[in-house]
Amino acid sequence: MKLFNTLTRQKEEFVPITPGEVKMYSCGPTVYNYFHVGNARPFIVFDVLRRYFEYRGYQVNFVQNFTDIDDKVIGKANEEGVDFNAIADRYIKEYYVDAEGLGVGRATYHPRATETMDAIIGIVQKLLDNGHAYVAENGDVYFRTKSFPEYGKLSHQPMEDLQAGARISVGEMKEDPMDFAVWKAAKPGEPAWDTPWGSKGRPGWHIECSAMATKYLGPTIDIHSGGLDLTFPHHENEIAQSECANGCTFANYWLHNGFLTIDNEKMSKSKGNFFMVRDAAKEFGYETIRMFMLSAHYRTPLNYSAESLEMNKASLARLYEARNNMEFRMEKAPDGVMTDEETAKLTSLSAYKQKFIDAMDDDLNTADALSAIFELTRELNAYMGAHDDATKAFLAAAHALFMELTGVLNIVQKREDKAADPDAAQIEALIAKRTEAKKNKDFAEADRIRGELADMGVTIKDTRQGVQWTRA
Ligand code: AMP
Ligand code: ZN
Repeated sequence: MKLFNTLTRQKEEFVPITPGEVKMYSCGPTVYNYFHVGNARPFIVFDVLRRYFEYRGYQVNFVQNFTDIDDKVIGKANEEGVDFNAIADRYIKEYYVDAEGLGVGRATYHPRATETMDAIIGIVQKLLDNGHAYVAENGDVYFRTKSFPEYGKLSHQPMEDLQAGARISVGEMKEDPMDFAVWKAAKPGEPAWDTPWGSKGRPGWHIECSAMATKYLGPTIDIHSGGLDLTFPHHENEIAQSECANGCTFANYWLHNGFLTIDNEKMSKSKGNFFMVRDAAKEFGYETIRMFMLSAHYRTPLNYSAESLEMNKASLARLYEARNNMEFRMEKAPDGVMTDEETAKLTSLSAYKQKFIDAMDDDLNTADALSAIFELTRELNAYMGAHDDATKAFLAAAHALFMELTGVLNIVQKREDKAADPDAAQIEALIAKRTEAKKNKDFAEADRIRGELADMGVTIKDTRQGVQWTRA
């Protein structure tokens, strides 16, 4: 599998540290609010990457953190007059609600920064011990950026350019403008932790990820990912701290998703041009949002618009319809062995699986992978339409292929539980009554029953194998 590595600016063959295993860390949300559609992009695309690795037989150790202590969390807590933990607890709970809706699986670990404080303090102490960091007069601890000559290697910026652009803000006591805070001295009324070096305080954002990645995955990991905006300074600083503390490469592959835009501008909380995922989900459905994200390659910009969401909603509906059709036909189909024609058809259909794999192997090209699924669906629909007598064995094999590929992307997996529908018996009875009316050429009555079903939110479809119904 090839992945585009921001470090080398090239697509590289993925070679894991340990054969058959992947150690992956992705920067998670700062939990002071619900997350917006832009934030959802890394959550979804790296969930797909993880699923794809698992599909290819890797054992994946995936860590995605919660940044539960920072200015924004504290600000929100002060605004509401509650403890910062109450804010973090609330929005972590809400993160899981939206993540589940979007089909984003749980990571192997979801550490919170405040639960990793020992590891964070440990890594700061190491940096102090080996001279890569220093305690300033005000109690802040800064990283000595010039002590790491490779600084800038991820964002491909020469040290001189960074030096020219660096500034010291009011209240900071750095030796050099390029230095950055790994520890912030306590301010009155803010949560603070004791430290061996004496200054009570709280960690900087970058050091949290360095510590959490190392604690749960070890000093060298395979893949570190996040949104493009995190490349500098967040990931550059993570590299500097981790490599200086541990004396080894921090991450072999750095993956960054492109921006989700709106009117071709980055969607962001600060600009106010965002939609919360749950509001967008109310309008289009969670799964439509997932489908929309996968409709583009993860590194390209993707523009959010109602038209685009509607289009993806319709595409998803087509896939569901094809699946439901297959399942309905499977139920009604004759038993018996697959015909030679069916065996040949199945071989031709499995070419789409190879196409799907080739696309995913090419730097996770979900757009092309989806095309393969749509082509498979079209060919399947055509074949089923032309072969009323397709066998159960053929339909089951085609269905398994369809479910395998859509399963990797985690789309089209939802199911109406018809047996659990409280109106199921009544619906079936009405359908039987309508069939009877049609047989007696009482089309007015048949139409009336269709209307009655529609009023109940039930859509019906006449097929040569019988009547299919679904909740609208
Ligand atoms: P935050 O909670 O702001 O730290 O962001 C969580 C994740 O969302 C990070 O990986 C960000 O890079 C990513 N992110 C934020 N805005 C966007 C956007 N408009 N498009 C894509 N990714 C984004
Ligand atoms: Zn991070």
